[in-house]
Amino acid sequence: MRMVNGAEMDQVMNHKEPSSFPSAGKSQVQVTHPVSGTRPVSGTRPVTGTRILGIETSCDETAASVIEDGRLILSNCVASQVELHARFGGVFPEVASRQHIRTILPIIEEALQQAHLSLGEIGAVAVTRGPGLPGSLVVGMNTAKGIALGSGLPLLGINHLEAHIYSAWLAAHPPQLTAAGDMQVNERQPLPPEPRFPLLVLIVSGGHSELVLMKGHLDYERLGATLDDAAGEAFDKVARLIGLGYPGGPAIQEASAGGDPRAFKFPRAWLEGSWDFSFSGLKTAVLREVRDLQRVHDTLPAADLAASFQAAVVEVLVGKAFKAASAFGAAEILVAGGVSANMALRGALHAQADFPVHIPPIALCTDNAAMVASAGYYRFSAGQRDGLDMDVLPNWPLSEV
Ligand code: ADP
Ligand code: MG
Repeated sequence: MRMVNGAEMDQVMNHKEPSSFPSAGKSQVQVTHPVSGTRPVSGTRPVTGTRILGIETSCDETAASVIEDGRLILSNCVASQVELHARFGGVFPEVASRQHIRTILPIIEEALQQAHLSLGEIGAVAVTRGPGLPGSLVVGMNTAKGIALGSGLPLLGINHLEAHIYSAWLAAHPPQLTAAGDMQVNERQPLPPEPRFPLLVLIVSGGHSELVLMKGHLDYERLGATLDDAAGEAFDKVARLIGLGYPGGPAIQEASAGGDPRAFKFPRAWLEGSWDFSFSGLKTAVLREVRDLQRVHDTLPAADLAASFQAAVVEVLVGKAFKAASAFGAAEILVAGGVSANMALRGALHAQADFPVHIPPIALCTDNAAMVASAGYYRFSAGQRDGLDMDVLPNWPLSEV
């Protein structure tokens, strides 16, 4: 994740809004319903499995979701702040937490309403405890505590990286058309098979790039991680270098579509003998190339630069993931986190036949609360219960959950 620093903030403030603190008040709550937009709007559901209410506010998405038995999406509501932060070119933490405060209660109400459930039909509340921005995390945490206190529901603090992994367990019953032509959820269709252990997990997000061996539910061995920038962070920084918008990942992907991935020979940091990653050398190579080009050209070949950078990132991520999967005898590969939305990465992963690969649908790759509720279900089933004295953990490695 790219965070805005003080100097950049001043620059934006001085140029755009010289006299006021950046106001989040202008933006309205925009709720999207990835994956679950087709649930019928009337009727209540019979009480069957365990329903977990998930809450996520670790960065710049305010999200709430209800999941049944760890896998079935009953609702999944996300209010993104991306437009609010776009003018700063990165996430502005103070603005993010203020906006979470505005959005959190409407989004939870929306998630319950969409699932046709009241709090009395929920089994537990799962909330992201960390890692993330402290001021953002506390909004979700305090709201979850309030709900737990008011309703008597068990409270569960969830690691955000673990939640990203569990996005691969999520599924929705496919919708079908009724005789009257209305969309209705087809509950007779079985859910797709679950990922099989041992799993080689690649987490690639704005704040993290990690290779993890998952031997069973909630059981992780960290094999390696980035030594410097996270993969998503590299996308965001390089997009800025070559004059593309924020967030950088989708902007680079879009620009790459018209570019030649072999136009520039950017370095691949293989770091032989370790399962770690490094993306700062690649970022510096792009910076040098941009400076050289700017000396002789008025405009940058942004499409070729974007495509060549993207190819370098994808080659290393995929190459190391497959090597690790072979070395540790993994049955399958699971890729999660915001960068797993990247089409070139998805294409390269699916292009091989050695390992079955699980990548969540695009809508579940970036931050959402469905994945928090899913991880919450497996933790709830394992007996986890957290107290009202639980605090957020802004730097909480997966290896310490
Ligand atoms: P975090 O939880 O660490 O903040 P997310 O899981 O929300 O990160 O993912 C956000 C990151 O994913 C950003 O760095 C963004 O640029 C990147 N990203 C999103 N979509 C794409 C894409 N299509 N290609 C590459 N990167 C992407
Ligand atoms: Mg995330």
